[in-house]
Amino acid sequence: MSEDFRARARAWLADNAPRRGSADDEAEAEARGQDAVLAEQKAFQAALYDAGFAGITWPIQYGGQGLTSAEQIIWSQESRDYDLPTGMFFIGLSMPGNTILEVGSEDQKKRYLPKMLRGEEIWCQLFSEPGAGSDVASLQTSAVRDGDEWVLNGQKVWTSGAQYSDYGAILARTDPSKPKHEGISMFIVDMHAPGVTVRPLKVATGHSPFNEVFFDGVRLPADAIIGEENKGWAAAVVMLRHERIAIGTMGSSRSSALGFDSLRDLAAGLGRTGDQGVRRELAELYARGRAMSLFALLLRQETQAGKLPGARGSVAKLAGSELGRFAGNVAADVLGDQLAGSDSEEFQAVTTSIIAVPGSSIAGGTAEIQRNIIGERVLGLAKDPGVDRATPFNQLRVGTQRQH
Ligand SMILES: Cc1cc2nc3c(=O)[nH]c(=O)nc-3n(C[C@H](O)[C@H](O)[C@H](O)COP(=O)(O)OP(=O)(O)OC[C@H]3O[C@@H](n4cnc5c(N)ncnc54)[C@H](O)[C@@H]3O)c2cc1C
Repeated sequence: MSEDFRARARAWLADNAPRRGSADDEAEAEARGQDAVLAEQKAFQAALYDAGFAGITWPIQYGGQGLTSAEQIIWSQESRDYDLPTGMFFIGLSMPGNTILEVGSEDQKKRYLPKMLRGEEIWCQLFSEPGAGSDVASLQTSAVRDGDEWVLNGQKVWTSGAQYSDYGAILARTDPSKPKHEGISMFIVDMHAPGVTVRPLKVATGHSPFNEVFFDGVRLPADAIIGEENKGWAAAVVMLRHERIAIGTMGSSRSSALGFDSLRDLAAGLGRTGDQGVRRELAELYARGRAMSLFALLLRQETQAGKLPGARGSVAKLAGSELGRFAGNVAADVLGDQLAGSDSEEFQAVTTSIIAVPGSSIAGGTAEIQRNIIGERVLGLAKDPGVDRATPFNQLRVGTQRQH
């Protein structure tokens, strides 16, 4: 069975997927325009679905393949040498998708998951606010019940992909009289609804991967809640767990611009692989990448078997982002001044990645927050005091509460 799957995956990828290094980098994609990239990625995701390689471990009744982590692992191995143009679906499938699968209603699973897998609808994650990042439970976006609907008001920030998303999973405060973790609900919001405004934010690479998003009187149906009313924190914990694993396991990709294969090939092209220092750095990058990808596979397998990773999700996220930063340093050391001013596409992709990679230590919970979690849950160190945990949110006078 698994070997059949491997043969099928190998043949399909060879016929349909762009080889590593042949896909557009961020600058090229931006030059082609968002609509062209969107159309290409939607078509590729649909082809992936039709061929039976989307949602490999998701249940068949929600559009998945109903296979096991063994096939998922085979797919990761076989697709490693390809640049699959599916980046716009990464957040939706790994975060809101997996969360709906775990805590969503039957109707939500049937309505949204197949369309995500077929590439028909793109999703984003709307957690962070100007006054609520690491401490996301301090969020102030509100959802107030009005008959059969909810009315959403507030602002989110750093929302990756909001500019091309159809739906978002948003956290909003539904009962400010409860302590901050208890009065939150998670909703599905239509990003094209009246009252939603998306403004792109430019980052150091010159690109706009994320946005600020404003919600002014946006009306949501009563059944837009993912999980239970005022139990949004539990749904958020589920999504953050999937996010940590997804981001943590991303950094181990050998095929990215800062991956081992890419840097080895570039170093070889410059005739630098005979240098002992370069060899040592590349060897360490290979060893750390391999350790990370094995750890990631283990976590995926265990999660698939129903064993939650707990604080090891934080270990994966932290190790993945540390690996990314290490790879950035290796690239700068190995390629050195060749990077500056080079107009080669490959070198530019490396330069852009070096500038972008520190963001992976912030996205999905900062390195300091992951260290706090590991300190508390693995090392048994004392918890942060959390003096505001038991106080009703509307009585807190800290943070950015507007009313006080
Ligand atoms: C590339 C990228 C993509 C992102 N995409 C999304 C997205 O799609 N959706 C979304 O909702 N958000 C997204 N974010 C936002 C991200 O989740 C937040 O930036 C992150 O949680 C940190 O919050 P903050 O920026 O408000 O920093 P703050 O929470 O203000 O932290 C500032 C500094 O203080 C430190 N700090 C804070 N609290 C503690 C503590 N208790 N102990 C020790 N140190 C602490 C932090 O580590 C950090 O160094 C993205 C961020 C990046 C960089």
